[in-house]
Amino acid sequence: MTQTSVASPAACPLCGSQALTPVLERTGVPVFQNALLATAAAARAAPRGDLALLRCGDCGFTHNHAFNPQLIAYGADYENDQSLSRTFARHLDAMADRVIGALPVGATVLEVGCGQGGFVRRLAQRGPGRLRAALGFDPAYRGPREPEPGVRFEASLFDRQAAASVPGGVDAVVSRHVIEHVSDPVGFIAAIRAALGTESEARLFVETPTVDWIFAGTVLQDVFYEHCNYFTADTLHATLQAGGFIVDQMDCVFDGQYLWAEARAGAPVPVPRAAGDGQAAMRYAAAVTAEIAHWQAQLQRGSPTVVWGAGAKGVTFATTIDPDATLIAGLIDMNPGKQGRFVPVSGHPVYAPAALPMLAPRQIVIMNPNYRAEIAADVAALGITADILDG
Ligand SMILES: [Zn+2]
Repeated sequence: MTQTSVASPAACPLCGSQALTPVLERTGVPVFQNALLATAAAARAAPRGDLALLRCGDCGFTHNHAFNPQLIAYGADYENDQSLSRTFARHLDAMADRVIGALPVGATVLEVGCGQGGFVRRLAQRGPGRLRAALGFDPAYRGPREPEPGVRFEASLFDRQAAASVPGGVDAVVSRHVIEHVSDPVGFIAAIRAALGTESEARLFVETPTVDWIFAGTVLQDVFYEHCNYFTADTLHATLQAGGFIVDQMDCVFDGQYLWAEARAGAPVPVPRAAGDGQAAMRYAAAVTAEIAHWQAQLQRGSPTVVWGAGAKGVTFATTIDPDATLIAGLIDMNPGKQGRFVPVSGHPVYAPAALPMLAPRQIVIMNPNYRAEIAADVAALGITADILDG
């Protein structure tokens, strides 16, 4: 028997079934999509992992069986700030208002996996007089502990001791874009449920990408190593139930790209055997290779090409379509912390928008159609007339 870094044989992390069908396989992808490097040589030597997406024939859940959590450590140097985009800021405002609107006056809200606290601060700012306190927990948090009255951060995990230390108790837990990163999603939810205590009636709000959007659009750039789990509305529902929450509402938000679940503390329910037909996953599996070939031909025809956005999507697109960095001249990003740095594995350079006249692209590939109007305005302001393509 060969010894590998991942558990074998493959089993579904949700229901334990071994009836798994391959959806996508790729080797040598960047482990961290949000970690750009100081030199091209360092970028090409960046840590690599494999993707082996499997779909469960019993519960319908899709996960990366080749994911090795030991390669991932979200420490204080982890950077994943999208709030510079106006479109994304509007989305954050809308979700903060939904949380506040769903809770009684005087509630205490706590975010698990709060990053640098942007959403927690938004909750406090948009709910003056509505919330008693907004708290954030994240081992990667590196700001002040109490930046303003009624707002508190802990650079630690959320557990029973942490919950017990909240004066007046926890009325609601928010977790945005965390559950797709953990190798045991039911265990993650069950740990939140356990921390709240058996008598709790706390609400839970969860946001995560929906794989339906990825499958339907044959989207390449939203399948990457940091995301080991890919949820549908049904599998997210099953996960929250199995972790001990009663699901009240399940919506698609951010133009259909994210799932938004509202639930309340209850008792665990086993994952149902309701896999669906899996047609969307199988269509994606069949279409992915052709999609990559299509883009490689498109980039050869329209050279020079730049990719707009050096976040997870841009990095995944560039390393998937152009792993040797021969087709894409560079990536453009508004975040000054990313400019002048290099994409892991492929070594593509990252530039500020002001570099566009120098790069003189004939085509600009954008990574998220939700940002098209914003990008088109910025490109036109620089006097660039390149074709703008949806990646
Ligand atoms: Zn399963």
